[in-house]
Amino acid sequence: MSHVFPRHTKSNPPLAVKGDGIYILDSNGKRYLDGSGGAAVSCLGHSDADVIAAIKEQIDNIAFAHTGFFTSEPAERLADRLIAHAPGSLDRVYFTSGGSEAVESALKMARQYFVEKGESSRSHFIARRQSYHGNTLGALAAGGNEWRRAQFNPLLIDVSHIAPVHEYRWREEGETSEEYGLRVANELETEIQRLGAENVIGFIAEPVVGATMGAVPPVPGYFKRIREICDQYGILLILDEVMCGMGRTGTLFACEQDGIAPDIVTIAKGLGAGYQPIGAALCTSEIYEAFVNGSGFFQHGHTYIGHPTATAAGDAVVKKLTEGGMVTRAAEQGEKLDAALREAFGQHPHIGDIRGRGMFRGLEIVADRATKAPMDPAKAVNKKIKAAAFEAGLVCYPMGGTIDGQRGDHILLAPPFIISDDQIGELVDKLGTAIRGVLG
Ligand code: PMP
Repeated sequence: MSHVFPRHTKSNPPLAVKGDGIYILDSNGKRYLDGSGGAAVSCLGHSDADVIAAIKEQIDNIAFAHTGFFTSEPAERLADRLIAHAPGSLDRVYFTSGGSEAVESALKMARQYFVEKGESSRSHFIARRQSYHGNTLGALAAGGNEWRRAQFNPLLIDVSHIAPVHEYRWREEGETSEEYGLRVANELETEIQRLGAENVIGFIAEPVVGATMGAVPPVPGYFKRIREICDQYGILLILDEVMCGMGRTGTLFACEQDGIAPDIVTIAKGLGAGYQPIGAALCTSEIYEAFVNGSGFFQHGHTYIGHPTATAAGDAVVKKLTEGGMVTRAAEQGEKLDAALREAFGQHPHIGDIRGRGMFRGLEIVADRATKAPMDPAKAVNKKIKAAAFEAGLVCYPMGGTIDGQRGDHILLAPPFIISDDQIGELVDKLGTAIRGVLG
């Protein structure tokens, strides 16, 4: 019997014993193509010699030194590297051990910023429905996924949720993409006015929505309007790039493609590429200076912030992404993956939409392509596709979301950027086997 507290699985999962490029081997020698990088984590595959060497070297020198007393070379290097490539005036890096911690830190950073400025009436966040920002209580409150929140609602801070942007689902007949984007972005203004701008801290959203909707990019102009509204009412824009950041969409930060910069951005997953648990919240110097000139420090902290071994891994990863050309590769291979998916499933009667950016792609499963009606939840097709793909030797990330109150299903793909052209073919073939086995 396993004493590891199980996550989603009731059956005994196989033992992962070895990583080999984009493949994971189990203890029976079965190879799995990691088509989702776990959950958009393993951007460099599972056996990157440079990242492994950087970790070993750091452990040989010093594995850990508490940030209450020391900083470390890799933490300083990684922060410099991130800031050199960060959009807008993002200027300081607060390291964490993962995504939820990064979001939690961002929310508290935003609140303290206004307290330092003497605007302590600001206590309210606005986020979007059908979103996910992590499982700790603050991050869970920001998320708009009712299923995840249900049991914990009485424990959660009050966050307003406005409409997400999902063109395939909710753009109306006769509306252009731009008009649709403006309509939903303007919901932010309406909500700020309802609450009173003097009570609002900020707005948090994922630039390209991952787990809850399946690689859904915004429409053109949406985030420009969001940025404009935040500036007009003096509230902070927090972008959650835990899943879509670090090259996943073909640029190091996903928001670069929307021509805007946030006040705070959260990153994790691809930052450590699975080699070490690490995340970060990056903020502008304006926010940082408010702390320096106010109480002098950020009233927050975790034991493992800026962990030398974790930041050594992150530094080697970001070096590869930027100087090593891996972000460009994500963009290039992402186009090939998109073309292969369209070729294989573009006419499939139960695949309603194929979308995404770079190495972040989603397929939406529908009962009927014409009406876009979701599958009957009782059919649990997302679970069946996950199982069938796994059987065929493919790790992919099918999820059930909520569409107009009904459960909808999608498959998220987020393979390592190192994937070759042939391996893209293998991924799509295996996915085809799983999809045909379940949907016909
Ligand atoms: N934000 C987003 C957008 C995520 O996708 C996730 C993880 N799926 C998180 C936050 C939480 O990250 P973690 O699981 O590392 O705590």
